[in-house]
Amino acid sequence: MTEAAIGLGANLGAREATLRRGLWSLGLPVLAASSLYESRPVETEIAQPNYLNAVAILLVPDRMAPGELLARLLETEAALGRVRAPGKPPRTLDLDLLLFGRLELARPRLTLPHPGLLRRRFVLEPLLEVRPQIQLPDGRQVAPYLAATRDQEVRRVTGRCWWWRTAD
Ligand code: ADP
Ligand code: MG
Repeated sequence: MTEAAIGLGANLGAREATLRRGLWSLGLPVLAASSLYESRPVETEIAQPNYLNAVAILLVPDRMAPGELLARLLETEAALGRVRAPGKPPRTLDLDLLLFGRLELARPRLTLPHPGLLRRRFVLEPLLEVRPQIQLPDGRQVAPYLAATRDQEVRRVTGRCWWWRTAD
């Protein structure tokens, strides 16, 4: 078994409900899920609503390769209404594979750790909430990178039980 960290984001439609449905749709055991955080969109020129973000730690069975997990994330995005377009327009659901155990990978369609991990506060805050001591594959601690992202607007808006509901 491998622990994978997934980043979830939504800034279109019923954001919290979509994050919850997305997480359940993956069909993998959830070891931990962070609180929800509201963040101002970054890395886009297109004016758009704030995101709700979270990070989940999933338990991935040995028979499931990282590429298969990524494919499942992309299928789930599509199933929940994501439309792909250039320039990072608003989206109903964005699912990113942040870490897959201690694997490092540089494939055309899959980079691990996720290349945005260390510079995005909307990823670092929820990741460190659920795994304060988490390390990169090379053994570096992630926590010290948070300080450099302080100017990004991110705030915690729920407790940790948001995803543990049976209906929307
Ligand atoms: P972003 O998540 O950076 O805002 P997109 O969701 O539009 O942007 O980008 C998704 C694309 O990035 C996918 O087509 C996927 O192949 C590629 N990609 C590369 N590495 C990863 C990763 N670790 N997690 C998710 N997508 C990745
Ligand atoms: Mg993505």
